[in-house]
Amino acid sequence: MTIPVAVVGIGKIARDQHLPAIAANPDFTLAAAVSRHGKVEGVPNFTDLETFLAEGPPAAVALCTPPDVRLQMCLAAIAAGRDLLIEKPPAATLGEIETIIAAAAKAGVVLFATWHSRFAPAVEPARAWIANRTPTRITITWREDVRRWHPNQAWIWQAGGFGVFDPGINALSILTHILPGAIHVDSAELEVPSNAFTPIAARLAMTGRGAIPISADFDWRQEGPQTWDIEVQAGAERLKLRMGGARFAIDGVEIDAGPEEEYPEIYRRFARLIAARESDTDISPLRIVADACLKGRQTATEAFHD
Ligand code: NAP
Repeated sequence: MTIPVAVVGIGKIARDQHLPAIAANPDFTLAAAVSRHGKVEGVPNFTDLETFLAEGPPAAVALCTPPDVRLQMCLAAIAAGRDLLIEKPPAATLGEIETIIAAAAKAGVVLFATWHSRFAPAVEPARAWIANRTPTRITITWREDVRRWHPNQAWIWQAGGFGVFDPGINALSILTHILPGAIHVDSAELEVPSNAFTPIAARLAMTGRGAIPISADFDWRQEGPQTWDIEVQAGAERLKLRMGGARFAIDGVEIDAGPEEEYPEIYRRFARLIAARESDTDISPLRIVADACLKGRQTATEAFHD
C-alpha cells in the first residue's frame, strides 16, 4: 500500500523537487494538487486547502507555500487528521510553529518540519568529524543571487518573508545539526532595501557550545559563482563544507560524499516517520533567525528591483 500525498502550493520548490521526489518514491502516490494558480496533470486539482480537505482524497499533505501562510494551513490539515510535511522555514514565527507542533501532538498526526540542507550528502560526515573534535571557529559564507533563485517572488520581501534568511536558514539548519547545543546570537547587522521589509544581507556573530565563535555572512547580491560554504576550524585541522553541503574537504583534501539526494531523502524519512507514527520538529534554526532579528541592527540600503 502506498501513502497518498497531496502537494499544496505548486510553486518553484514543488515543481523542482517535491513532485519529482514523490514520483520516484515507491512508498508514495501523488493524490492531488492544491494551488490557486498552478495545476498538476493526471491528479485532481483544488484551488484551496479547505475544499481539498473536505472533498478530496484522504491524503497526507506536503505544504510548499511560503512560511507566512503556514499556521492556518497546518492547523486545518491537522484538524482534518492529515500527516503533514512542511517546507522550511517551518512557520513565520516561533509562536506559530510551537502552536503547530502542539496541535499535531494532540491530534496524533505525524509532523515533519523539513530542513532539506540537512540531507545534503556531506552533512553527516561533517557531523561525525566535529563529534570527535573541539571546533575553535566556524565561518559561514552564504552568498547567492536572489534574482536567480527567487525570480519575481514578492513574498520574500514582505514582513514574514524572511528575506536573505530564507537561504540563510539552510546554513543555520546545517550548523545546528553538526554542532549540537545552544547557539547564541551576540550581534547582527541587517541590510534592508528601502522598498522592502526583509533583509537582502545579514552578518551574524554567534557563540556555540562552550565559547566557539561562529560568524555568518548572508548576502543575496552575489552574481556569478555562488557560495554556500561552512568552514570549521578545530585547532590546526580544517573541514570545509561547500555547495550547501554537497561537497566537503578536510585540510584541503576533497572527499567524495556521494550523490545529492536531499528531497528523495526527505520523502524516505517521511515514509519512515509515518510508519513509526513519529514526528520530527527541530526549530533551532528558526530560533537563531528570530534572535538575529531581535538583536539585529538594521540599516537601509539601495532599493531592490527584480
Ligand atoms: P514560490 O515559487 O513562490 O511558490 C510558493 C507557492 O505557494 C506558490 O505556488 C503559491 O501557489 C503558494 N502561495 C503563495 N502565496 C500564498 C498565499 N498567500 N496563500 C496561499 N498560497 C500561497 O516559492 P518557493 O520558492 O517554491 O518557496 C516555497 C517554500 O519552499 C518557501 O518556504 C521556501 O523557503 C522553500 N524552498 C524554496 C526553495 C527554492 O529554491 N525556491 C528551495 C528550498 C525550499 P498558488 O499561488 O498557485 O496558490
